[in-house]
Amino acid sequence: MVLGIDIGGTTIGFGLVNANGEISHRHKFVTADYSDFHAFLLDLKKHMEERQLLNKIEAVGVGAPNGNFYTGCIDFAPNLDWGEHIAVSKEVQRVFGLPSWLSNDANAAAAGEKQYGGAKLMRDFAVITLGTGVGSGFYVNGEMLQGKYGNGGEFGHVIVEENGRLCGCGNKGCLETYTSVTGLMTTVKKLQEESYSSLLSMDVVLNGKLVADAAEKGDAIAIKAFSITSTYLGKALANLITLFDPEAIFLLGGLAQSGEMIFKETQEVMEANLMPLFKGKVKLLPSELNDADAAILGAAAIAAEQMQD
Ligand SMILES: [Zn+2]
Repeated sequence: MVLGIDIGGTTIGFGLVNANGEISHRHKFVTADYSDFHAFLLDLKKHMEERQLLNKIEAVGVGAPNGNFYTGCIDFAPNLDWGEHIAVSKEVQRVFGLPSWLSNDANAAAAGEKQYGGAKLMRDFAVITLGTGVGSGFYVNGEMLQGKYGNGGEFGHVIVEENGRLCGCGNKGCLETYTSVTGLMTTVKKLQEESYSSLLSMDVVLNGKLVADAAEKGDAIAIKAFSITSTYLGKALANLITLFDPEAIFLLGGLAQSGEMIFKETQEVMEANLMPLFKGKVKLLPSELNDADAAILGAAAIAAEQMQD
């Protein structure tokens, strides 16, 4: 059993994961309830002790924004108030007396796909998360791409538009600003400013599902917004394929749940922009991990993978 911990700015989810990728004792703590990571760990340990689960855990895997696999530290996480550098792996080892590994959440998602999802038999693949932001994780020759400093696979921040939308990273025109759920919303709003013929009210808080529903009902703006999003994503994926020659690309997260609305045109644009060598080979697939489970499974997979080595 591996304890998987998914650290987010709002909540910290965790659960025990067995070799088949089944989660038990899933639970959530509120991040703001803890003044630092150590305080959270002490509470987590108590929680496990009280349920007599502590002796079942063999290792701990942690996924977090800006989590660095090499250093075991979270550095400058934008939504965490626990200091600039959080020594996650060291603290977990100290409090639990167990081996522990950390990774950023998107790389964790890729590890989850390899360990428990659709990429079990694949050596070369990418997982792209299309949520509030765009994250990515790559496996190359059967191993996760970490890069020299542990920052490998920040595909959400490749620049797809000269002088484009301002990104949270400080650059302009990053893929994330167009193909995240947030990016889709921005596109809808821009289209609404140009035309009023839409089922989508400006007054409600829009989300990806609302836009997908409207598009399915034939709403012109919603359809156009998905088309613009798919075009950016499809071209970017063609670039990705040209670099990495993967067997498959998995999409995960809010936008991936829009199904055909995002998959169909993205695949078409991707194929249209590939050179003949790559055409018709790469599978564009939905993640086989349930969206609600993916973060905990990914975190657990980081540790499970190391335990197997
Ligand atoms: Zn960026």
